Amino acid sequence: MKTTETMESSDPMIVRFTEDEIRLMHLALDRWGLNTQIGQTVEECAELIVALQKYSNRSPQPESIDNIIDEIIDVEMMLAQLRIAFNVDDDTFRKGIAQKFARLSEYLRQG
Ligand SMILES: [Mg+2]
Repeated sequence: MKTTETMESSDPMIVRFTEDEIRLMHLALDRWGLNTQIGQTVEECAELIVALQKYSNRSPQPESIDNIIDEIIDVEMMLAQLRIAFNVDDDTFRKGIAQKFARLSEYLRQG
């Protein structure tokens, strides 16, 4: 598992974590354990679901967009911890992403 790599990117679609952030995620997993962090992931996903439902059910408000962004960040942090906990290295992750995007591309081509 690569934990020392820190990549800088100006592309806002690419989430990269610093070495310090990765170290903190390891500490969180050590402190609270996998089951607790799985529960936290479920909770953060649920909060994102609620934020998205509020946005789609009402006329969009600036604070609802802020809430969605906040919950996306929470979920990204928890997913990164799960990647650490389940030893999903960058190569495995990248291959999985490429396969999913190939499938998406095929769906889009089919119309
Ligand atoms: Mg949250």
